[in-house]
Amino acid sequence: MPKVVVRDLKKRYGNTEAVRGVSFEIREGEIFGLLGPNGAGKTTTLECLIGLREPDSGQIEVCGIDALKNPREVKQRIGAALQTISLQDKITAREALALFGSFYRLPIAPEKLLERFSLQEKSDQHFDTLSGGQKQRLAIALAFVNNPELIFLDEPTTGLDPQSRRELHQEIAKMKREGHTVLITTHYMEEAEQLCDRLAVVDHGQIIATGTPRELIGRSAGLQTVSGTTSSPVDPSLFAGLPGAQDAHCDDTAFRFRSASANEAVGQLLRLLREKNIELAELHLRKASLEDVFIELTGSRLRD
Ligand code: ADP
Repeated sequence: MPKVVVRDLKKRYGNTEAVRGVSFEIREGEIFGLLGPNGAGKTTTLECLIGLREPDSGQIEVCGIDALKNPREVKQRIGAALQTISLQDKITAREALALFGSFYRLPIAPEKLLERFSLQEKSDQHFDTLSGGQKQRLAIALAFVNNPELIFLDEPTTGLDPQSRRELHQEIAKMKREGHTVLITTHYMEEAEQLCDRLAVVDHGQIIATGTPRELIGRSAGLQTVSGTTSSPVDPSLFAGLPGAQDAHCDDTAFRFRSASANEAVGQLLRLLREKNIELAELHLRKASLEDVFIELTGSRLRD
C-alpha cells in the first residue's frame, strides 16, 4: 500500500492557482522528491499533505488515513521540517526537543536525538547562537521527535554550505535505511538526482513528469553536451556539421554543442581538426542531467 496518495489536489490563493490538479503516490520506504523552481507549488502541496493548509479540492491519503477528514491522526504518524524554523531565541536544543516531545504519545528522548543529529555539543546553547546548519539539524531532530514513519522536509538544504548539505544528505539516506519514508522538496537538481528514489517534476502548479531520476533522464532526448577549446579558431560550421550536433556555439577558440551521438561526433571532430593541423586543448563530455530534462519539458531553466 502506498504511504501517500494524492489525487487531483488544487489550491489557490486569491487569483494565484498555486496547485492545479496534482496527483502522485509515495511508496513505503522511498525518498520521494518534488523538484521544481521557486513558486512551482511544492511548499503548498506539502503543507496540504501535513494539514497546515486546506486544499480547495482533491483527496489526500497519508499512512492509509484520509488526511482531510482525520488530520490529527495523521499528525501522530508524521514529522515535518518546514523551510523556516522559528523558535524562541533563548530556548535550547534540549528544551525544544523536550517541549515538542510532550505533544506526542511516544516521544524519543532528547538525549538520543541530540546524539543522532550531532547536536550534543550545542545541546544547552540558545537557539539564536546556532549556525544555519545546526538550526537545520535541530529542525529535523524536532520533526523526528515522534519517530515518524513518514517525514516531510521542505527545501532542507537551501542556503546551507556544501559541507552541511552533505551531512544532511547522509542523514536523509540514514532515515531511508532505517525504514522511514521521506518526502523532500528541492530546486537543486543534483540533490534530486543523487538522493531521490523517485521524483515528480513540478512546474506552475502541475506535475509534468514522474519517475526515477534515471528514467526521467532516459526519457529525455538523451543528448550529451560536448565542449572544449582548440589551439586556434575554427569555422563554426565545422561543429554544426558533426553527427547529431545541435545548438552548436563557438566563441573564438571555445566551442560547445549537444549530440545524441556524442562519441561519434568527437571522433569526427578529432579527424577534422587533425586535417586542419589544429590541436584540441580541452575536451569535456557531459551526460544529460535532470536540468536538461527540465529545459526540454518546460523551455526554461530550473534556476534563474
Ligand atoms: P514553491 O514551494 O514551489 O516555491 P509555493 O507553494 O511556495 O511554491 O508557491 C506557489 C505559488 O503560490 C507562488 O506563486 C506563490 O507566490 C504563491 N503563494 C504561496 N504562498 C502564498 C500565500 N500564503 N499567499 C498568497 N500566495 C502564495
